[in-house]
Amino acid sequence: TYILGIESSCDETAVAIVKDGKEIIANVVASQIESHKRFGGVVPEIASRHHVEQITIVLQEAMEQSGLTWDEIDAIAVTQGPGLVGALLIGVSAAKALAFAKHKPLVPVHHIAGHIYANRLLEELQFPLLALVVSGGHTELVLMKEHGQFELIGQTRDDAAGEAYDKVARMLDMPYPGGPQIDLLAAQGEENLTFPRAWLEQDSFDFSFSGLKSAVINTIHNAQQRGETLKKADIAASFQASVVEVLTEKTFNAAEKYQVKQVLIAGGVAANKGLRTSLENKFAGTGIPLLIPPIKFCTDNAAMIAAAGTIAYQQGRRAGLDLNANPSLPLQ
Ligand code: ATP
Ligand code: MG
Ligand code: FE
Repeated sequence: TYILGIESSCDETAVAIVKDGKEIIANVVASQIESHKRFGGVVPEIASRHHVEQITIVLQEAMEQSGLTWDEIDAIAVTQGPGLVGALLIGVSAAKALAFAKHKPLVPVHHIAGHIYANRLLEELQFPLLALVVSGGHTELVLMKEHGQFELIGQTRDDAAGEAYDKVARMLDMPYPGGPQIDLLAAQGEENLTFPRAWLEQDSFDFSFSGLKSAVINTIHNAQQRGETLKKADIAASFQASVVEVLTEKTFNAAEKYQVKQVLIAGGVAANKGLRTSLENKFAGTGIPLLIPPIKFCTDNAAMIAAAGTIAYQQGRRAGLDLNANPSLPLQ
């Protein structure tokens, strides 16, 4: 089965072709990060315009890379949501046009299902599994008992982890996206500032990062008022330690409670070195296999959409040409 995936939910225009949900045949990503940098974040209108300009080029490049003919493509999978509506619409429109012109089934995919299924490009999934989804817009613990079934056992009550990274980076005058920069800086700093850990109620698998974000702002302001300057690297290290500890502990507790056969991480923040190391240490010797995808599979791409789309296709999920983008599509 060859599935062509299209992703345009945020600031990456991406097309990929995946064989049997596991093997990448083509994978093209056009990132717009440079265009959004000077605004300190993604500007929706600019994102849409870039997607329009890029989509046919990226599509053609992916087809060329694959060496396949359209006859060999079984279906078109596309990110239906969640994301920026104007950005999603470009991918959805392109997918519908292709499905119509090439007479292919159209398969709608949830962006987060895609992030999770990026892991299947590495290794077969083992159920029940627990996925820690940490990205720009999501922080969730997802329990999967079988393919295509997603049970939300915890989620953020305010900011997403990636959002907290980007906001703290902005306070430290670092360019967008701030996550990777803080990660690098944290490695050079010392955890000498005490920031809160939001454990919430006992046994809760929910998250909260807005208190941490405020604590970082206050610490910076208070130091400024005293005429002191804190080392950026120390702020980064202390902030990252708080995020990573909560993510690691809650993931481990959930993995034990649900007796999962596999734990995997997904989303842009899964690229974080501190988080990867912390999870590796926590799960080492526990007998619970931990799957950590390479960084290029953590951030937005279309191979993950084709991988999730393969299962959806095999399970019979189809959309008509009236498919619409849904910026707040629930995971199910
Ligand atoms: P969503 O997937 O929730 O719709 P998104 O697609 O915008 O949101 P991703 O592309 O999955 O998010 O991830 C981008 C986020 O990941 C940004 O917030 C970015 O700062 C963060 N990020 C990327 N690399 C790292 C890193 N090494 N450490 C921490 N955060 C990182
Ligand atoms: Mg992005
Ligand atoms: Fe994403």
